[in-house]
Amino acid sequence: LESLVYNALKEATAMAKGHSDAKWSRRVWELKEAMALRRFRVVYQPLMNLEKGEIIGYEALCRGPADSHFASPGVLFPLAEKAGLLYPLERQIRQKAVAECGELLRNQLLFLNISPSVVKDPEFAQGNTRRLIAEYGLRPQNIVFEITERTAIQDFSSFRRTLQHYREQGFRVAVDDAGAGYSSLQAIAELQPDFIKIDMSLVRDIDTSSIKQALMETFVTFGRKIGAKIVAEGIETEKELRFLCQIGVDIGQGFFIGRPAPKGEGPSPESIAVLSEKKIRGRAEPLHAVTVGS
Ligand code: C2E
Ligand code: MG
Ligand code: MG
Ligand code: MG
Repeated sequence: LESLVYNALKEATAMAKGHSDAKWSRRVWELKEAMALRRFRVVYQPLMNLEKGEIIGYEALCRGPADSHFASPGVLFPLAEKAGLLYPLERQIRQKAVAECGELLRNQLLFLNISPSVVKDPEFAQGNTRRLIAEYGLRPQNIVFEITERTAIQDFSSFRRTLQHYREQGFRVAVDDAGAGYSSLQAIAELQPDFIKIDMSLVRDIDTSSIKQALMETFVTFGRKIGAKIVAEGIETEKELRFLCQIGVDIGQGFFIGRPAPKGEGPSPESIAVLSEKKIRGRAEPLHAVTVGS
């Protein structure tokens, strides 16, 4: 009986494995096909200087084909990494973003998300990106590499040297998702970022959470000290925006300011003007807040 059960189990395991192998190969094949056919799109989300009410640039966000199971970057990038296709995929996205924005961005910034494992490769910034932007008349100063805070944890000192190297080339660096991961303020300071993008979990309902207000104020003070601009991500409501302006956050991003959109379909200059007229710091009506616990 024991060997019967054993054999049955063995067979079931082999079947499950065969099944998942087939599923895996199909997914990788679909990814390769989408890349070969250049079916990835890039959408752009504006970042607004909250003091002046001006758009300072755009973050490029990748979208897989709508009919694929990797339409969302949260599914796409882990798949590409596992399949060993991260480099060519990121290269394709960068190429597309720079080509689509080149002319527009002479005086603005293009924020590019970079996967942790790609960041570590210096050829990436020196070589590929430099050549790419030169083709479109952009300078490294137009490009901001967004690097998620989670990266910073592994092999911190080599990571710091890599970022230093990027900055020496003229590129700018943003720490993404700050406040949501595990890195200390000291670690962030050592990275000497140009921007610190505060994760949207700290922005959500900030108008009613005294803890989030305190954290955000701390980041603002900290940013001033280390010469980094503070960016609040994921602003969805007017209340959140006004509160962030009041606290002195430098830059805002979120659905309330503008959703990620294909090139040319983003918020119009008129809608931005209305927004900045109504809500920016200084001109905003005093806010009699609401300070209750989170
Ligand atoms: P992220 O870089 O922190 O990007 C912010 C995400 O929040 C984006 O999701 C954006 O669409 C979404 N978002 C922006 N404003 C709001 C808002 O007001 N409310 C809410 N609820 N969401 C908002 P998305 O595009 O799905 O990207 C998710 C993550 O995938 C990004 O987080 C980034 O880490 C990664 N990602 C996206 N595109 C790329 C890419 O081209 N390369 C790499 N390496 N990573 C990418
Ligand atoms: Mg980002
Ligand atoms: Mg972010
Ligand atoms: Mg994020």
